[in-house]
Amino acid sequence: MTDHIDSTAQDHAAKGWDLHCHSAYSDGTETPEGLVLEAKRLGLAGVGITDHDTWAGWDEAVTAAERYGVPLVRGTEITADVDGTCVHMLGLLYDPTDPVLCDLFATTRENRVKRMKKMVENLSADYPISWDDVVGQVKEGEQTTIGRPHIADAMVAMGFFENRSEAFKHTINKNSKYYVPIVSPSAKTVVRAVKHAGGVAIIAHPAGATRNRSILTDEQIADVASAGLDGLEVFHRENSPEQQRRLLGLAKELNLLTTGGSDWHGSGKPNLMGENTTDPDVVAEIEARGAIAIIR
Ligand code: AMP
Ligand code: ZN
Ligand code: FE
Ligand code: FE
Repeated sequence: MTDHIDSTAQDHAAKGWDLHCHSAYSDGTETPEGLVLEAKRLGLAGVGITDHDTWAGWDEAVTAAERYGVPLVRGTEITADVDGTCVHMLGLLYDPTDPVLCDLFATTRENRVKRMKKMVENLSADYPISWDDVVGQVKEGEQTTIGRPHIADAMVAMGFFENRSEAFKHTINKNSKYYVPIVSPSAKTVVRAVKHAGGVAIIAHPAGATRNRSILTDEQIADVASAGLDGLEVFHRENSPEQQRRLLGLAKELNLLTTGGSDWHGSGKPNLMGENTTDPDVVAEIEARGAIAIIR
């Protein structure tokens, strides 16, 4: 398994699936079709569309996947909480008509808007920014899951920063005085909702340090696993090599699948599609466990 850590992202991309990518239905910069075309250009085995707290981009992605012959995994990156630590969960191949999961998304999306309005209010004390400026950056109207990157885009448009990363570094990161957390369900609640919808539940970037002061402990991950978790996204740029080794050990101990993804956001982040991927045998197991098929 250590091959995964020592091999370059390029080796891994050759035959892998990138199961973590965003479109403009959340905070990515490209359409679902653009996402599928990027996977085709790179020759990936397949790609996942995983916008934050929504499946609104799925239909467009399916149309593109069928047109261009790119295998597609439908999923969502779901905002969650573990003891006050913000955790992201990937829910893959679930039934999108499931009322429990759809209600959970709707609630989080409402909480996101409330939280974003508070952040804009906080920022307006020091910057001439209004809610309309942020809404002006949204590409898919009401269907878009709004987030801090849309504030960043508004500040870039007004000339305060060069790009999203600079805006995050200077004003809207977790430690800034303008930051407001999103009220979100517990990770165990999310796992149960994803399982209710027949999907596969994976903790995204479990050792990512950028959105929290501390990362999840072994005990916290084991507790989430007790609710029926399927896997850990080990191969992600926010998990250091040392953390990837720790997560591989933990996955073995807890009998969890190990996945990889780039967290591609188009031009909104430096992450390159295919820089981390998931092995085909793991994808086959995910499909066997899921409620809906991979589009091929
Ligand atoms: P939110 O969900 O509103 O808290 O915003 C978090 C989103 O912002 C995540 O999807 C990240 O990918 C994105 N993000 C975090 N840091 C940065 C950064 N430095 N540059 C661009 N996007 C970022
Ligand atoms: Zn994002
Ligand atoms: Fe994330
Ligand atoms: Fe993501």
